[in-house]
Order: sequence, then C-alpha cells, then structure tokens
Amino acid sequence: MLRLNEQERAWALNRLKELSKDVDYHNVHYFKLKTDLLVAIGFATGNGYAECFRCKTKDVQLLDIDHVLGNGDEERKKFPNYTDYYIHILEEVLNGSKDYQILCKKCHSLKHHSK
Ligand SMILES: [Zn+2]
Repeated sequence: MLRLNEQERAWALNRLKELSKDVDYHNVHYFKLKTDLLVAIGFATGNGYAECFRCKTKDVQLLDIDHVLGNGDEERKKFPNYTDYYIHILEEVLNGSKDYQILCKKCHSLKHHSK
C-alpha cells in the first residue's frame, strides 16, 4: 500500500483547498475537485488508480465515492456543501481511513439495490 509522507500529504491538501476556492456543487471546478479526490482514494486504497473497485472502469465521469459502511447520506448532512465534504473525505483518506472506496455508478447502484 502506498503511503504519502508528510510533505506529499500537505501538498495534496493544499492543492485540493486551492482547487476548491469558491467552488460549489454547480461550479465547473467541482469536477476537478472530485477527480483529485478519486485519485487520492485510488492511491490510499492501494491500487493507485482512480478506478471502480469492482468492474475496474477508469472513466472518471462514471466514478462515485462509496461509503464502505453505507452511511454517506448521514455524513453528507454534516457539511454545508460538497467542497467541505470532499475535503473532509480527502483528509480522512490521507489519514489512513478505509471507510471510502471508488465505485462506478453502475456498481454503486447494484450495491445499494442488493441490500
Ligand atoms: Zn463498476
């Protein structure tokens, strides 16, 4: 598993905060923020790619962040906007959290429907 050192971690966080200035859900930068987050999760979860955990698609437009424990809606409500929420997830991931994984939209909905 790839671990970021302190310097890399600080760089990643700064970059994300930089990208997320004045960003909201409808802003075009939102997509960049999400892409960076997907890459960070890809590294933190060991495969090094922003790809679907199940079917391995690498099409970022299809990729979603999945809460392994399924508490996404609850957690989302604690944050005023998606930017803060995504920064929170990135910090968690950089701190070694295993609560997030990448799934494509198809695998994501299959997971929810199979419950
Ligand atoms: Zn998939």
